[in-house]
Amino acid sequence: MKLALVTGGSGGIGSAICKRLARDGLHVIVHANRGRDKAQAVCDAIIADGGSAEVAAFNITNAEETHTALEQLTEAGPIQVLVNNAGIHSDAVFPGMSPTQWHDVIDVSLHGFFNVTQPLTMPMIRTRWGRIINISSVAAVAGNRGQVNYSAAKGALHSATKSLSLELASRGITVNAIAPGIIATDMIDGTFDDKLIQNMVPMKRAGKPEEVADLVAFLASEQAAYISGQIISINGGMI
Ligand code: NDP
Repeated sequence: MKLALVTGGSGGIGSAICKRLARDGLHVIVHANRGRDKAQAVCDAIIADGGSAEVAAFNITNAEETHTALEQLTEAGPIQVLVNNAGIHSDAVFPGMSPTQWHDVIDVSLHGFFNVTQPLTMPMIRTRWGRIINISSVAAVAGNRGQVNYSAAKGALHSATKSLSLELASRGITVNAIAPGIIATDMIDGTFDDKLIQNMVPMKRAGKPEEVADLVAFLASEQAAYISGQIISINGGMI
């Protein structure tokens, strides 16, 4: 049974990804930072559904804590499906953006990507099969007012996706990014009301976490072996 790690598995999109990958027969590590209880609930639901899962909680901005956790998690074998999904936003128009807002957002999305992905790469290479899927955002494709920090972090993830895909292509490992639009989770509560969604999204609705999870599952499958280095949008036709 292949091992999958979903960072931010305690969150809205992450929990849907965990459940979907478990249905496809993967052993899923449901990751959380502060929300271990939420991750445990996701893990319990997977097991109740006949799947295989465990919980891990660590702060991906802390390299040492992350390395220690990953060492323990990979004692059972290499992680072959990695979904870098953990992310935060801290919005402000640029003239009013504080250094903390800038650094915090980049720390989670970009340095978190490095802290988790780099130690897992060599063990993945040794197996000659792997899938790395980075969750970015439409904000990195189209830009978004008030999110210079967030779109910079996610845009850097796009470039990292492309370069890493070139390094790993000959080893049977694909690296892709998914750029969701507005997806109905706690993250967008208070940011996008119905009227705004009607105006911004040609399909006139927010996406469902399950729709993002279906795309992740496809990219993680055998069928997607020839797709790598791509930024795939899922946004109801926004761009
Ligand atoms: P949530 O806020 O529901 O979940 C975010 C997850 O990231 C949580 O599990 C949280 O862990 C984890 N996380 C945050 N900071 C850290 C950290 N320092 N270390 C480890 N984990 C951390 O967000 P969504 O499910 O909505 O978003 C998931 C991803 O999708 C994010 O990368 C987001 O940027 C992206 N996205 C979301 C969109 C949307 O409309 N919802 C649109 C486009 C992209 P915990 O809660 O346990 O602390």
